[in-house]
Amino acid sequence: MELRTHISVQNLNVFYGNEQALKNITLDIPDKNITVIIGPSGCGKTTLLKSFNRLIDSIDGVKVSGKVLVDGENIFDPKVEVTRIRKKMGLLSQKPYPLPMSIYDNIAYGPRIHGIKDKKRLDEIVEHYLKESGLWNEIKDRLHSPASRLSVGQQQRLCLARGLAVEPEIILGDEPTSALDPKSSQRIEHRFLVLKKQYTIVIVTHILRQAKRLANYVVFLYLGELIEHGPAEDVFNNPKEEMTKEYIKGIIS
Ligand code: ADP
Ligand code: MG
Repeated sequence: MELRTHISVQNLNVFYGNEQALKNITLDIPDKNITVIIGPSGCGKTTLLKSFNRLIDSIDGVKVSGKVLVDGENIFDPKVEVTRIRKKMGLLSQKPYPLPMSIYDNIAYGPRIHGIKDKKRLDEIVEHYLKESGLWNEIKDRLHSPASRLSVGQQQRLCLARGLAVEPEIILGDEPTSALDPKSSQRIEHRFLVLKKQYTIVIVTHILRQAKRLANYVVFLYLGELIEHGPAEDVFNNPKEEMTKEYIKGIIS
């Protein structure tokens, strides 16, 4: 497997007050693949993900050192505009947060902000991204009904479509199926497997079976340290570190 770097993390340290949540992380995230970040609760998965789009900045008392290079640019450089970095990344959180408006307007929201006003063009965009997120067939006859009436699983796919509509390069997911029933989780997982041809995808999960279904590349964190990372076949079938072996066998969790 040829892996081209898209995000490069170099000596990243993150502190919440005096507590160090990430310890000197150095890591390349491959382009147009699914990278899965695994590890027990509290090991720093969310913190690492939030460092990629600088959402970490919005937390009080956070201190960051080191670099995160996205397309070669250190996003923690004070000259960098956060909005431009965030536009490159769509984020799915644990629970879907649709905007309090119609299905259509949820998708059109980003493109409108970026200046697209033409009705026909917006119709095309809405249809295109609802198809990309696998929701179109279910809701094409009620595009103008409130997004809040969708099931939670549909709302998560709507949020995916809304994120894709601003044309990101990278999709970040923080345990994006944790609020979903098995069928909806499966639909979201299937979308990721389709979308990885076009996007760099980074998913946090504590579900090992999900990690095995999705991952091309695996990052294993434990207590803020990067224990092991590599192609999924290697980490799952032939882990180098004792700690990884134990985690994969379910001895530590
Ligand atoms: P994970 O996503 O793997 O469960 P997190 O990245 O959320 O882990 O948290 C890593 C560590 O940082 C934990 O010890 C957690 O308690 C701490 N932490 C996370 N967010 C905050 C915060 N906003 N303020 C203080 N400590 C935090
Ligand atoms: Mg988390």
